[in-house]
Amino acid sequence: MTSVKDYIEEAKRCVRCGVCKSICPTYEVLRREPASPRGRVALIEATLGGDSLKGSYLRHIRDCTLCGACVSACPKKVDVPALVLKARQERAENLPSFVSFALKNVLTSPRFLNLCARVGGKLKGVFFKPVENGLISRFSLASAGGGRLFPELAAEFFLDRARTKSLSSVKGARTGFYVGCGVNYLLPEIGEATVKAIESIGEKIAVPSAQVCCGMPALSYGDVATARELAIKNIEAFDSGDFDYIVVSCATCGHALKNVFKTLFGDSPEFKERAERVAKKVRDITEFLSGIGYKEKGKRPETVTYHDPCHLRRYQGISEEPRELIKKAGYAFKGMKNPCKCCGLGGGVAFTNYALSQKIAAKKAASIAASGADIVATACPGCIIQLKDALHRSGVKARVAHVVELVSD
Ligand code: SF4
Ligand code: SF4
Repeated sequence: MTSVKDYIEEAKRCVRCGVCKSICPTYEVLRREPASPRGRVALIEATLGGDSLKGSYLRHIRDCTLCGACVSACPKKVDVPALVLKARQERAENLPSFVSFALKNVLTSPRFLNLCARVGGKLKGVFFKPVENGLISRFSLASAGGGRLFPELAAEFFLDRARTKSLSSVKGARTGFYVGCGVNYLLPEIGEATVKAIESIGEKIAVPSAQVCCGMPALSYGDVATARELAIKNIEAFDSGDFDYIVVSCATCGHALKNVFKTLFGDSPEFKERAERVAKKVRDITEFLSGIGYKEKGKRPETVTYHDPCHLRRYQGISEEPRELIKKAGYAFKGMKNPCKCCGLGGGVAFTNYALSQKIAAKKAASIAASGADIVATACPGCIIQLKDALHRSGVKARVAHVVELVSD
């Protein structure tokens, strides 16, 4: 789909059967037709066709987590997330100016992004107080996330570490590592575990220093120009290496590199071809380790359940590999109810409608508690941050970890 006409045609394929409603996480919480996939399709069809619905329309479009659950349930496979993204793109000029500034100027400049992160780190004591597993706001304002558990910035960002820098151009490395912002700034232990897991099987790994944000935050807000600028920088960073594989430990970044970059260059055959070449090499770390035959380890005492990130299961079709790795790492596996239900983070909803995001996350926390597992594993830094907050709010004691941390331990 490229033109508005294509999107209207896509919306018209909806036969209004309503099958998608029961599976949509936002409809499950809000119980209103415009908050369902069917309602969103109707709103988008009307507005892309010319009607102006403004305020409430924008809210329902912003509230979609882009989880993709509706597409898997829909008998016509109507691509509701693509329609939502197009609707956001059409309204991107209405973004608050600070969001627009941050997307265009901060995300595209690693130096500026690092500086902002460092200044934020210095000021954290003014706004936050430390608790187990993170920080909470000193203010009880809902807009400041009253009671929300925020992740702590890493004392030293992953890409700034001497060991990581020494891997920026490793001779003979077949495997490149795309790190992503969540791992770099907030959860560098996932980066360390990824490097350790790959080196432990005798593979050389390189971490190109020219890599930048994958652009998904910009795309979620409808800023395609910024997403494209970032995609070009990442393609330049990875397409020039002699890599057979590009490993990613973030489900969202993996989706961007595998599936999204190649859709951004309809007008540039050169970059489309390079994006496709990069996409073929991308492997989620769980997919990579399963593929090369990760060896079984001895039994461990803890039990582990698993939450499927939407961007891994629905957008990349990876669900068995992480479960298999958890078992091979020696943990007793305990399933949870609705493991592939969205955690409420996606589509920027955790920032634009935290109340809704948390109500969705509370259902996930209840499923984790009911599983009785000691650890909830997942494969996306964003989900990890969201799950930690949800478990903290619900008083559930399970530890949250990335699968690669469990297997490299
Ligand atoms: S992508 Fe997810 S949140 Fe959005 S309409 Fe579909 S099921 Fe609902
Ligand atoms: S399931 Fe598909 S066809 Fe049916 S209402 Fe939902 S989007 Fe439309």
